[in-house]
Amino acid sequence: MNIKTKCVQGEYQPGNGDPRVVPIVQSTTYKYSSAGEMGDLFDLKAEGFFYTRLANPTVDWVEKKIAALEGGIAAVMTSSGQSASMYSILNICKAGDHVVSASAIYGGTYNLFNKTIREMGIDFTFLAPGATEEEINAAFKPNTKCVFGETLANPSLDVFDIELYAKCAHAHNVPLIVDNTFATPINCRPFEFGADIVTHSTTKYMDGHACALGGVVVDSGNFTWDKDKYPGLTTPDETYHGVVYTETFGKAAYITKMRTHLMRDIGAMQSPQNAFYTNLGLETLALRMERHCSNAMTIAKFLKAESEKPDGKISWVNYPDIDEGKNGELCKKYLPNGSCGVISFGVKGGKEGAVKFMENLKLAALVVHVADIRTCVLHPATTTHRQLSDAELEKAGVPADLIRMSVGIEDIDDLLDDIKNALANV
Ligand SMILES: *Cc1c(COP(=O)(O)O)cnc(C)c1O
Repeated sequence: MNIKTKCVQGEYQPGNGDPRVVPIVQSTTYKYSSAGEMGDLFDLKAEGFFYTRLANPTVDWVEKKIAALEGGIAAVMTSSGQSASMYSILNICKAGDHVVSASAIYGGTYNLFNKTIREMGIDFTFLAPGATEEEINAAFKPNTKCVFGETLANPSLDVFDIELYAKCAHAHNVPLIVDNTFATPINCRPFEFGADIVTHSTTKYMDGHACALGGVVVDSGNFTWDKDKYPGLTTPDETYHGVVYTETFGKAAYITKMRTHLMRDIGAMQSPQNAFYTNLGLETLALRMERHCSNAMTIAKFLKAESEKPDGKISWVNYPDIDEGKNGELCKKYLPNGSCGVISFGVKGGKEGAVKFMENLKLAALVVHVADIRTCVLHPATTTHRQLSDAELEKAGVPADLIRMSVGIEDIDDLLDDIKNALANV
């Protein structure tokens, strides 16, 4: 199956008389006839469902579909993108460890790392876009356990140099984790460029209809876990009768530990109902991404032309697909079929101009969301990124006049009219 077919028909294969559509298994528990059978499940000696905090059939089908789309061996769905990012780190890091991360990442992820996880005793070094191989290598410490980046940064749209970071991570025997939310596996599959773990906020394009919060972590199965560096994976887990994940589960050690350890202890599981919605979104993901990208390209070109007119009201436009610099080069390499539907730009008149423009839009709604079928706009400096200082904003690539427009799948002429009308009112 090609990836576009996998979106529609991947993994769930109904038998005779089974529901055609992935059913919602709205049950927390599963029945067994003997204590022995159930005991084997608890000891990880047998596979099966026993409690929805750990696994559920609906969620399982959707996890398998996402793993197939990314080209990974297995996936764990989570209740939000935030919990996916947190799990991806906590699965292999504990107090005293260190993480190298790109600084151009989602504001929520930056806070999660720099506040909550830092307070747990895990240290971070953040690297700005354009860091050289030498600079990246210099950020590693003996206690570094992983590297983290975002394929297409939300909202700066910096394209992460996956191959370069994978090379540096592997030179230090640590895995590369990539948040692939904005690109989706339709436009980029980070495993093909050397990433080891992929995360998503499924809340964004995967759902795509702004109706279900969720996240996912996908394991490529490619990383070889060093015995001394990752004792959580390579030495006996006494809370599971001494199982050694790398010995018992081989390539699936990381993702199995995430389910049996972090899901068991923290329980940020995606609900079967939300997994069902996520799957409805996945079925049209390939189709929607094409339209998101073509609409965004047309709008980006219009805004660019506007920014080049002496009396135009746009000061700058950022869409990697039309960028002529380094970011454009990275986009062509990692996202040759298009990046995503998100554009950022500045309206002349700074913060005031930006707010006026947004308030005059009629089709594009002002909401705290992106990657929705409905076009929406946001001013990060006064909303999602308002916790960041000016220096941190600059480091995250989010100037104060930046408007983020998430272009939907409406008719392009209607969208252009809406933008023109709003600009006329600035
Ligand atoms: C939204 C987002 C997240 C967080 O996801 P939630 O589902 O909102 O918790 C993480 N990474 C990126 C790139 C995002 O856009």
